[in-house]
Amino acid sequence: MNIVVQKFGGTSVRNLECQRQVMQKVLRPYREGNKVIVVLSAMSGETNRLLALAREWSANPDPAEADSLVSTGEQISCALFAMLLKQQGISCRSVLGFQAPIMTDCAYGKARIMNIDETRIRAMLNEYDVLVMAGFQGCDDGQRITTLGRGGSDTSAVALAAAIKADVCEIYTDVPGVFTTDPNMCTDARKMDSITYDEMLEMASMGAKVLQIRSVEFAKKYNVTVHVRSTFSDEPGTVVTKEDATMEAALVSGIAYDKDQARITLINLHDKPGVSAQIFTPLAEQRILVDMIVQNPSKNGKTDMTFTVPRADVDQTLKTLDSLRYEVGFDELDSNLNVSKVSIIGVGMRNHSGVASRAFRALADENINILMISTSEIKITCLIDDKYTELAVRTLHKAFELENGPLGKA
Ligand code: ADP
Ligand code: ASP
Ligand code: MG
Repeated sequence: MNIVVQKFGGTSVRNLECQRQVMQKVLRPYREGNKVIVVLSAMSGETNRLLALAREWSANPDPAEADSLVSTGEQISCALFAMLLKQQGISCRSVLGFQAPIMTDCAYGKARIMNIDETRIRAMLNEYDVLVMAGFQGCDDGQRITTLGRGGSDTSAVALAAAIKADVCEIYTDVPGVFTTDPNMCTDARKMDSITYDEMLEMASMGAKVLQIRSVEFAKKYNVTVHVRSTFSDEPGTVVTKEDATMEAALVSGIAYDKDQARITLINLHDKPGVSAQIFTPLAEQRILVDMIVQNPSKNGKTDMTFTVPRADVDQTLKTLDSLRYEVGFDELDSNLNVSKVSIIGVGMRNHSGVASRAFRALADENINILMISTSEIKITCLIDDKYTELAVRTLHKAFELENGPLGKA
């Protein structure tokens, strides 16, 4: 049995007219004799609408009930789309996370997929030609509904493709592929034919929401080729795959940004062994993603420590740190919510110097102040005032001449 996995995002299923276009995409592999697993997101805006409803009760609604609520968005699009296919005489059914089942841990709102029962999915595919599966959701050991974090339908699709060992997972969205930067922010952005898992991982973790980061982790781990393309055209998109010897590594392949960031600083922190563990262990236990950690050299046994967290986790982070004030020992907690991260990414950077200085010069020429810097082998990230995000993205895109094709080869 040849199985094709296709995922369609919120804008692709946003209304019945778009769902008809989605059907055309599904009909292609179906008519070629393949079984098709269609993974759908909620109609665009629906997840936000449901989250806003939940927040009417409380700023921190019960996490398990919040997941039960937001998962209904995907249930609606799956049921509607399955009805449409059935009207065309296609044998299909909708499948929710708990019906598959897609087993996850119980971290509501950011659950991780633990297991997918391949035999059960294959059994359903024996009975039906198309399965319309709800993205973003799963269920835990206690039979409660969980969700996988924003953008989680990408991860559902890639995990399903990995579980049933599909060769390719097609991710259909509202842009024609992965670009050198967000095409909705920079008109010069250029579509890439291919990108390596590592570059895509960096792009996604630095904010390029075209793919959820965990979907890329799954794809890399299980060697699933991901093809990102448009629901609204037939042009080939971008293939995310492993680096092969024939692929020329671009010095800089893309610019990503993340406006959903906040800076936290612990002032006059006691500099003694174990302090960092005391600070970051409780944050990790709460699944708060800490990034860009900088600690200054200490003076008289005291230091300042600064790091970034997602904006949505600031309150919880500050509360946790405040409760550690005396145990850990620091004078003040400072935070800034008006910051964003802008990152330059490229596997070719591994063997090159001069990328950082070129980026800093370009930002300086536009009078953009850099608040923090962090680097890895294949990326440079600058924390800046978020009002300059767009300017910084365009400036760096231009500085590395990304509109003309990859700059320099490694
Ligand atoms: P979907 O609802 O289909 O999952 P998303 O909104 O999650 O779609 O992701 C697609 C969006 O990602 C695009 O509309 C675009 O604005 C944004 N994006 C950010 N960075 C990039 C990039 N480098 N390439 C393509 N799209 C990007
Ligand atoms: N509907 C969910 C969200 O808006 C999941 C997804 O679209 O991938 O985040
Ligand atoms: Mg998405």
